[in-house]
Amino acid sequence: MKWEITDSQLLLDEEEIYLRGCQCKTCGHISFPYRRVCPNCLEGGLLKKPVGKSARLKEWTISCVAPDGFVPPLIQAWVKMDEGPEVFSLLSCPLEGTKDLQVQQKLVLHPIKNGREIKGWGYEPVFQRKGEKK
Ligand SMILES: [Zn+2]
Repeated sequence: MKWEITDSQLLLDEEEIYLRGCQCKTCGHISFPYRRVCPNCLEGGLLKKPVGKSARLKEWTISCVAPDGFVPPLIQAWVKMDEGPEVFSLLSCPLEGTKDLQVQQKLVLHPIKNGREIKGWGYEPVFQRKGEKK
């Protein structure tokens, strides 16, 4: 499937979707979004690095107020990508599913689509089945 990406923070590699991050050639620090100067050592020359395919939920809340273009209630989350950067994101999860949300839950990046067009990105929980290792 060929997707049209309109969000400049997204990368599409084969069918996999990533966020456009970067890694410092000097200190190795990984950051998101892509930038020209390392926020850790202030050196330039950062390398593009796909990040954010999966993450862990750190905090979340339910908002009953939403900006234009969004329908409340929204689940707002603070997540830590497996590569290290932390980011605010919307969480795709039914409200009744929030009773099972735990802070250290695995999340996966997913596109927010309008038809076939990708308009943005968010995370959704990967619920573990009983007996599965986290
Ligand atoms: Zn650096």
